[in-house]
Amino acid sequence: MQYPLPLRIFKFGGASVKDAAAIRNLVRIVQEHGSSSQLLIVVSAMGKTTNALEEVYQLAQAGQDYSEPLAAICDFHQRVAQELAVTGGADDPLEGPPTLTNLLEQVQDKLSTLTAGEFDKQYDQIVSFGELLATLIVAQALGAHWLDCRPLLRTDHTWREGRVDWPTTERNLRATLPEALSRGPVVTQGFLGGTASGYTTTLGREGSDYTAAIFAYCLGAESVTIWKDVAGLLNADPKIFADTVRYPEVSYQETIEMAYYGASVIHPKTIKPLAVRRIPLLVKSFLDPAAEGTRIHDCRHGLLAPAFIRKTSQCLISFESKDLTFISEENLEVIFGALAHVRLKIHLMQNSAISFSVCTDFSAYRLEKLLETLRGQFTIHYNTGLELYTIKNYDAASIRRLTEGQELLLEQRTRQTFQFVCRAPENVPDRLL
Ligand code: ASP
Ligand code: MG
Repeated sequence: MQYPLPLRIFKFGGASVKDAAAIRNLVRIVQEHGSSSQLLIVVSAMGKTTNALEEVYQLAQAGQDYSEPLAAICDFHQRVAQELAVTGGADDPLEGPPTLTNLLEQVQDKLSTLTAGEFDKQYDQIVSFGELLATLIVAQALGAHWLDCRPLLRTDHTWREGRVDWPTTERNLRATLPEALSRGPVVTQGFLGGTASGYTTTLGREGSDYTAAIFAYCLGAESVTIWKDVAGLLNADPKIFADTVRYPEVSYQETIEMAYYGASVIHPKTIKPLAVRRIPLLVKSFLDPAAEGTRIHDCRHGLLAPAFIRKTSQCLISFESKDLTFISEENLEVIFGALAHVRLKIHLMQNSAISFSVCTDFSAYRLEKLLETLRGQFTIHYNTGLELYTIKNYDAASIRRLTEGQELLLEQRTRQTFQFVCRAPENVPDRLL
């Protein structure tokens, strides 16, 4: 697409908009680093708002009192809006964005009219308010145009993990955005999409990075910048691992693999659309915006320093045939079918003579549904409270560093990747490894 100035996309996650001071910092970054281009700004829910909304939703579903946590969410947003002196009101209520009060009323309304069943569908209708609220406040703090992405970013009905309808989305975005962008920066929601019938969908937890990539792909952006609370793409999460190093430059392929194994820095689906259109992804620190960060693009580099990735709250499930026969392809088909049906993703799997084991995220609700489906056919054992570690580009020292003193419940090694499952330490505060 032809733009009078190159189009850049900035994505700000929860930590970068966690309070009024953080939003003021965002405004400074946009002024100092976004001025020589047209700018589309994708914003996530403020701080831990998505978790808070999940909690409220769960209480509401269980028929319990959710008034206090809901009031906390409302107060928090109102306070930040006041501190930033944004009014939360539209200039023209017919044309412009909703007001903060409108949005807060809508979420209360939806919570009080939940219906039985359709847990995931209703989740999307409620939890999406985090991004709607955040973008309203940020757009006003910037004096930028607020765009509701839901009528444009089209997905199917896969609740909580909407699958993008690319042709429709591309058509919609190209028809709408260039004109809006020519008038100044545009602020829109990460993580959200909408169905053809007008329901809100979400793209999977931490999905705002993916949103930035979807917009970049459809609009032919020059680059995407993700502003984080770390210095760039690191070889491990510095909250968990000591002595992290920053990669200055990483290929798309390597980044996809890291994200796949659960490196929390970038949502796994983000890279492919950018790689297809060769759009560079810059990961930079909102605490030190002038620093170099990491450039993810079409490049070649040697072997990177080992990357350490931890997934918590894991569950190891093993299936044994009831009559001590081997686990056959027919059995596996049934097991995979049931896992897909209850939407449990396999992070690691291993097959032995009479049993088959998978490591998945732990979800009491999904595990129960799985047991219901398969209990008749298999003897099923499971362990919860586990952790899955992955070392990409491992060497002997890096394996030693992570496995020392651990009882490994499952372990697997390929040429570049070493993975193991172990028990999470009990009552030990998160330690630096
Ligand atoms: N707010 C959503 C979440 O916390 C999306 C995101 O942050 O990317 O999962
Ligand atoms: Mg978030």
